[in-house]
Amino acid sequence: MRAVRLESIGSMAIHMVEKPNAGPGEVVVRVLAAGICGSDRHMYKGEYPTAIPVTLGHEFCGLVEEVGEGVSSFVGGELVTVDPNIACGTCPACRRGRPNLCANLKAIGVTRDGGFAEYVAVPCGQAFTLPSDLDPVHGAFCEPLACCIHAIDRAKIRPGESVAILGGGVIGLLMVQLARLAGADQIILITRQLSRREAALRLGATQAIDPTATDVVAAVRDLTDGGVDVVIECAGVPETLQTGVQMVRRGGAFILFGVTPAGLAVPVLPFDLLVNEVDIRPAYLNPFTHSRAAAMVASGILELDSLVTKAIGLEEVAEVVGGVPLPGEIKVIVRP
Ligand SMILES: [Zn+2]
Ligand SMILES: [Zn+2]
Repeated sequence: MRAVRLESIGSMAIHMVEKPNAGPGEVVVRVLAAGICGSDRHMYKGEYPTAIPVTLGHEFCGLVEEVGEGVSSFVGGELVTVDPNIACGTCPACRRGRPNLCANLKAIGVTRDGGFAEYVAVPCGQAFTLPSDLDPVHGAFCEPLACCIHAIDRAKIRPGESVAILGGGVIGLLMVQLARLAGADQIILITRQLSRREAALRLGATQAIDPTATDVVAAVRDLTDGGVDVVIECAGVPETLQTGVQMVRRGGAFILFGVTPAGLAVPVLPFDLLVNEVDIRPAYLNPFTHSRAAAMVASGILELDSLVTKAIGLEEVAEVVGGVPLPGEIKVIVRP
């Protein structure tokens, strides 16, 4: 079968490899749609640890093709979404109910072969059934959505609150929709690209701000009577971290979601964080949220089609992951 392999940092290519077999407790999934994620670009550049070599692709949906020994939850033919993060279940974090902080965390498409391939073998407990008539492209959104749901859980948005979202990529645009569904009254999306600001306004943002055109901290403070209840940082760059903590109201929450390159330091003002009691809450991965994401995608409550800006085959994946995102690009979907 064909698979797109990360061979070393900065080197990715399509290869013919052995089709995987379903080991005990595993199913083999025929991949119908897989999303390219910002994390894939971080992994390609060596900014996020991976196994090497490995087939990338951690956001995918497909059909159960083969069922391994001891699997009773699938018979074959089911449309499934896969939670890529595999916790060990026995380390101190797992025993405290924090699987995303597992000391031995493995991830499909990161530390073991993933979905930029025709087939992928996964532990059956990682697969969640979707309605058979669901568009598999929508199914490929379950993974990023599950991570966003965890962030919304951490944000504890209450009806009538204000939310500022920094970053207008697919994550920011999912967060806009989730904040709206959580009952936020004011949803301010901050991003440089006009097309993304327009998309955000269509999806439920009440305001969209270009941070290069104005003093964004003053603008948000002005719109929210002195500071926003919740900031969700989805860009992972120093500017958004620094401006984000400054636009939170006194006693408000700052959700750290964007992935900055490992090892990068960002200066902040601890005095300001202290006297304003800015509640900094990181939201990492998708603990116990994948089934909720699958339910939301299945219900059709989210607008996903307009987030897909391009569909490609496996032969184009290396070029897209290794390149810089094109202006206007939101989500690129791979159809093996
Ligand atoms: Zn991802
Ligand atoms: Zn563990």
